[in-house]
Amino acid sequence: MSDPLKAKTALYPGSFDCLTYGHLDLIQRACKLFDRLIVAVANNSRKKPLFDEHQRYEHLVACTEEWENVEVHILEGLTIEYAQKVGAQFIVRGLRAVSDFEFEFQMAIMNHQLNDDVETIFLAPSPEYIFLSSSMIKEISRLGGDVSEFIPPLVLGSLEETLERANEY
Ligand code: ADP
Repeated sequence: MSDPLKAKTALYPGSFDCLTYGHLDLIQRACKLFDRLIVAVANNSRKKPLFDEHQRYEHLVACTEEWENVEVHILEGLTIEYAQKVGAQFIVRGLRAVSDFEFEFQMAIMNHQLNDDVETIFLAPSPEYIFLSSSMIKEISRLGGDVSEFIPPLVLGSLEETLERANEY
């Protein structure tokens, strides 16, 4: 990319609580499409996170280090305003099964109304991740199931440690 003014920057916001191979699959696809991909840890007011934003940030930094055009941020304020602040022309979101559609569609339309310079792009995951969600991983893990094929080893270690600590109380 020679002209920085023409660089295509995308913002991929999400809770990433916990980071899964589904998220990483999306990051890997998106970083091929854009010159710069900013993955931003958001605090979703509808969800109480298991990991605080700094832990989620650390997981993302460690698991994306192989991709040179990926940066990890902690998202402050409104996603659409943050996109503008960091110079992103695109917002990337994942569409898994039909269940994601209504919420994602509403958000994309709302963001477009707030700022029509920023386009939302949806990426479909690889088929093996289509039903993978962070909440399902946390639930299975809480109940003692093996989730090692769905999340990176670093995240698995943190998850086991956090759930163990929670059980001590
Ligand atoms: P949020 O609370 O913002 O929905 P998530 O971490 O659950 O945060 O998801 C962030 C984005 O990543 C969403 O667009 C979601 O659809 C997408 N995503 C999550 N898991 C997967 C997956 N397995 N495959 C593809 N996209 C996914």
